[in-house]
Amino acid sequence: MFSTLKLALKNLRMALFPQHCAVCERRLAAGESHICAACTMNLPLTHYKAEPGNPLERMFWGKIPIVSANAYMHYHPNTRNAAIIKSLKYHNNPEIGIYLGRSMAKELADTDFFNNIDCIIPVPLAKKRERQRGYNQAKCVAQGIQQITGIPITDQHIRRSRNNPSQTTLQAHERQQNVANIFTLTTIPSLQHPLCNKHILLIDDVVTTGATIMACAELLATIPNLKISILCIAIAGHHGKGVPTTEE
Ligand SMILES: [Zn+2]
Repeated sequence: MFSTLKLALKNLRMALFPQHCAVCERRLAAGESHICAACTMNLPLTHYKAEPGNPLERMFWGKIPIVSANAYMHYHPNTRNAAIIKSLKYHNNPEIGIYLGRSMAKELADTDFFNNIDCIIPVPLAKKRERQRGYNQAKCVAQGIQQITGIPITDQHIRRSRNNPSQTTLQAHERQQNVANIFTLTTIPSLQHPLCNKHILLIDDVVTTGATIMACAELLATIPNLKISILCIAIAGHHGKGVPTTEE
């Protein structure tokens, strides 16, 4: 009875406020959510499935030890699919973050990616940016993942003191310096730290050079015996699938 009422209310809301596809902007049909069926078919998914040696994981090789890393899709700024990220970050659409988080978790459900993960930590935004946007988009993604996996979100252990200024014109090493010291731990990293001996899943939206998430992970890695896995919505740039035979 309750679910019938819920469905009726949902249909009423859809009729009064029709939803549109975040990619092609066509009106969504019944049963579609955020992205229409045609655009969903054409999403530039990486299909990494958290396989060891995938391009996101390789970004961290020799820099910080991580257990596993996965990116759900590719990101190319001048394509129609970039509208998904723009909608999440700039068009006040936290719900699409939750939707993506759910999709990402479902895609990995038949892998062992989520095994032994104790908690999810979204990469934090600086307070001012979060106030302006109204939400932290990485946390929305984390909420979607939590809904599917049941893994709790822990976001009180790390803060961001400032947002890195636009990185688009910087070289990789400049980006690294640009994000140095932007994160701080709220508790001293000791054997008594609540995250000591835990395996955390760090969540970000788009990873370009990995400088931001690396700065965040490096700091968290000062907590004794902490294990880190990484999951992001998208990886920018041109990356193929699978394990390379040689380093690029
Ligand atoms: Zn569409």
